Amino acid sequence: MSKSLQAIRGMNDILPEQTPVWRYFEGTVSRLLDNYGYKQIRMPIVEFTELFKRSIGEVTDIVEKEMYTFEDRNGDSLTLRPEGTAACVRAVLEHGITGGGQVQKLWYIGPMFRHERPQKGRYRQFHQIGLEVFNLDGPDIDAELIVLTWRLWGELGIRDAVKLELNSLGTSESRGRYREALVEYLSAHHDKLDEDSQRRLKTNPLRVLDTKNADTQAVLVDAPKMADYLDDESRAHFEGLKARLDAVGIPYVLNPKLVRGLDYYSKTVFEWVTDKLGAQGTVCAGGRYDGLVEQMGGKPTPGVGFAMGIERLVLLLETLEQIPEEISRQVDVYLCAFGEEAELAGLALAELVRDQLPNLRLQVNAGAGSFKSQFKKADKSGALYALILGDDEMAQQVVGFKPLRGQGEQQSIAWDALAAHLATCVVQG
Ligand code: ATP
Ligand code: MG
Repeated sequence: MSKSLQAIRGMNDILPEQTPVWRYFEGTVSRLLDNYGYKQIRMPIVEFTELFKRSIGEVTDIVEKEMYTFEDRNGDSLTLRPEGTAACVRAVLEHGITGGGQVQKLWYIGPMFRHERPQKGRYRQFHQIGLEVFNLDGPDIDAELIVLTWRLWGELGIRDAVKLELNSLGTSESRGRYREALVEYLSAHHDKLDEDSQRRLKTNPLRVLDTKNADTQAVLVDAPKMADYLDDESRAHFEGLKARLDAVGIPYVLNPKLVRGLDYYSKTVFEWVTDKLGAQGTVCAGGRYDGLVEQMGGKPTPGVGFAMGIERLVLLLETLEQIPEEISRQVDVYLCAFGEEAELAGLALAELVRDQLPNLRLQVNAGAGSFKSQFKKADKSGALYALILGDDEMAQQVVGFKPLRGQGEQQSIAWDALAAHLATCVVQG
């Protein structure tokens, strides 16, 4: 017998009982992004491998060990996207929509793929909502990105559970000078560094800063600080950002060790972190990447963006019990019909009601069944009201209208008055 069929480790089904929370989350975010003037873009899930190597950088965890890369039937090397920024930059360049300094405020949503060790909050297929803004170089837009996430946390009721960490990496020139100073310092303490950090010292020294190794962390205490190497322009940019966050009243913590995993960041970097989810605490992360578009073959184009992890935010909503009750109810009205004639009349009546109340969530019983079994299904559906069509109702051309959640007796409503009656008692979303 063949092994039973299973999903790939780290790639999850999102079951019907979970999708209402996802849709609530996604709906809240997309409405907010519409309101702030962001436009959605949709990119393919698969791209040429070269795209990610060029944009993310060869010596990053993602490119070194996390990509799902394969050869297609033409012999091309393709990769399931591990993140969205690279494809978004490719798309705007390919279609010329950032040319001549055109501002683009874009967002995307979808699955990303990384071959990591699966654990709570860390999966091999996971989902992000990401934003990318092109051709705005001031701190005002960096601030807007943070302000809108702050509003989102507020709407979702999770503001108290997340903390903003902030840093500036400077321009590539000032970061280069800092990198030299850091390499010099760390090289003098080479023997005290863990193996991974010794390797990173050669390949991507800034990443030593976010080591989890205690011995290396001890060495880092006296290491040179990026803040002392910031050029005037980056310093002013960072001050501009902080002033705006202060103006709105958004608290933040400066974290000089925040460097982010990807090579392409410059100036602003930030993360929203929570201590409610264990080790996988970053729910949203991003920063400025002024050099990236040029690095990918475009004209110099400032860019800034972030991505949030939907699984982690859904987990946080569940952990904090911040899921509005009404989102789990998916049926307003359940129609029960007894006998073939009643079924036909019920179907036609349901369509008439739907014509008049397009937002009503009306479920028609399928599979016939006894009075008792249809009522059980009506109740289980979560509906507020049952509609009943039996022999008596058919004879009088009415429908029985029965509240299922307490209050009120069953009444008879004439068929042609049904939609108007429902409109008065069901709040339609
Ligand atoms: P981490 O430090 O947790 O590995 P990262 O720096 O690799 O995160 P980004 O590439 O910045 O993450 O992605 C942005 C967000 O996407 C993260 O803050 C997180 O919420 C989410 N995310 C990243 N990797 C995963 C994953 N494997 N599973 C679930 N969510 C993830
Ligand atoms: Mg990671």
